[in-house]
Amino acid sequence: MDAKFEINDDIICKKYVAKPLQNNIWLIFSKSTHEAIVIDAPPDFSMIDKIVDKNNKLKINNIFITHNHYDHIDGIEYFYNKINKPKVWIGQEDKIKLSDFKIIDKHINTYNTYEPFKLNQTPIKFIETPGHTNGSTCMLVANHVFTGDTLFPGGPGRTITNNDFKNIIHSIKTKLLILPIKTIVHPGHGDDTQIQNSINEYNIFETKNPNIDNLSGNITWNKNYE
Ligand SMILES: [Zn+2]
Repeated sequence: MDAKFEINDDIICKKYVAKPLQNNIWLIFSKSTHEAIVIDAPPDFSMIDKIVDKNNKLKINNIFITHNHYDHIDGIEYFYNKINKPKVWIGQEDKIKLSDFKIIDKHINTYNTYEPFKLNQTPIKFIETPGHTNGSTCMLVANHVFTGDTLFPGGPGRTITNNDFKNIIHSIKTKLLILPIKTIVHPGHGDDTQIQNSINEYNIFETKNPNIDNLSGNITWNKNYE
C-alpha cells in the first residue's frame, strides 16, 4: 500500500499502485459501516488479491470505473468474482467496451450524475469529463476528486484528436478548475496535486497557447506549443 488518508471523520481512502502502467487503485470505505467502494480495476490480479484479502472486514459492493482503457478495466472480471458480484459503474459513453465482459454484462451500471452515491453519510458525486475518452468520469468525495486520466499534475491526459483535446480542456475548465482551490486531485497514475496548482498551470498554458486548433496527444501545461 502506498498511502492512506482520511477524507472526513468517517471515510478513509487507501491508495494501491498496480500493474501494468503504475495504475492507482483507490479503496474508499466507511469506518463505521465497513461499506467500501473501489475506483478502477487494472488487470493486476495479485494486487486485487492483496487488496481484498488485507481488507477482509470491508464490504466492497461497488466498483467505479473512471474510463474504459484496458489498464483501468481489465481486472473487472477478476474483482467481480473475487468479491462476490459487486455492482460495476461506468460512464454511459464508455459502456460499449465492457460488452467484452460477457459474464457481468447485466451487472454494469452507468453513472447518474444528478444523484450522488452515498457511502454511509458521505456523498460521492460523479462528474462527466469527456475528452480522454467520451465517457470519462471523475468522482468527487468531500474535498478529494479522483480524476482517472483526465487531469494530472502538469496537464491533461492524452488525447487522440484535436476535438478530444478541445473536449478535455473544456471538461477540465468547466468541471474541475471550478472546484474549491484546496480540493486534492488524485489521478489514475502517479502523484496527487491540488486544484490551485492546476489553475496556475492552466493559466500559463492559456497565455502561451491562445490558439489550440492543432493540439492533441500528450500535452503539458508549461510548454510553448507554437
Ligand atoms: Zn486512459
